[in-house]
Amino acid sequence: MSSILNADLHCHSVVSDGTLTPEQLAARASANGVELWALTDHDEIGGQQRAFAAARANGMKYLTGTEISVTFAGETVHIVGLGFDASDPRMAQGLQRTRGGRGQRALEMADGLARVGITGAYEGALKFVGNPELISRTHFARFLVESGACHDTHEVFRKYLTEGKPGFVPHRWASLADAVGWITQCGGVAVIAHPGRYNFTANEEYALFTEFKAHGGRAVEVVTGSHTAAEYVEYAGVAREFGLAASRGSDFHSPDESRIDLGTLPYLPGELTPVWDLLTDRIR
Ligand code: AMP
Ligand code: MN
Ligand code: MN
Ligand code: MN
Repeated sequence: MSSILNADLHCHSVVSDGTLTPEQLAARASANGVELWALTDHDEIGGQQRAFAAARANGMKYLTGTEISVTFAGETVHIVGLGFDASDPRMAQGLQRTRGGRGQRALEMADGLARVGITGAYEGALKFVGNPELISRTHFARFLVESGACHDTHEVFRKYLTEGKPGFVPHRWASLADAVGWITQCGGVAVIAHPGRYNFTANEEYALFTEFKAHGGRAVEVVTGSHTAAEYVEYAGVAREFGLAASRGSDFHSPDESRIDLGTLPYLPGELTPVWDLLTDRIR
């Protein structure tokens, strides 16, 4: 297939921290012209069957997906998995372990917020949670907007939920080796999500790409809702330098919160190998 394909291979439903159901996302993606779609909920594959059925009902091709939280060099990095066998128990077990710490972390986040006068945040965040195993910072952010503490979720993250702020709790996620291993053992392709978003030094970023490749990772997001146009160019260069295929995905979470809608990003630069060319036998 060519790089001129409306593929959207990164978004979130109520199964993680999105606000739409898999069916609503599929209808929206299709209405926006998406031809190849993947639902990539954080650390979860509970929406995959519904997403596949809804993709088919809307005339879209589908790849299985997830976005795994990883700790690398003391920072959280996201690794997207595409085209894996969602019925393989190794993926389900790995993700379940990764989700395990979220409940306790959320209680500690609420303690931190209570110390600066924001009470009831745990219960408040829970009201926005679709999947009790997947309480995330996003759900706290929605509660703080609802309660009037901030105008929008970006302000919440800036003031309360990022490193050094009262509601931030450092957390240890999966290792890079584990996440890439689960994806590739289950027949999928591992993709470094939105590399432009990490606060790495040049050396740390080089280490991330080098170790990712050594573990069997094969692609990187180049055109994503998290990148500027300059970063499309920058990471197209990095993809070429490391011999990685390129992916494209909006990272859509919600009509009210997401700047970039499903299926509306520019196409991948033509000189790159699209990640879907590595997955032709996994597209359903
Ligand atoms: P968690 O997995 O609980 O640490 O939550 C991470 C999620 O928070 C990401 O997947 C984004 O959806 C969201 N997020 C992270 N940083 C920001 C930000 N600066 N503004 C808005 N949402 C953010
Ligand atoms: Mn998210
Ligand atoms: Mn992410
Ligand atoms: Mn995402």
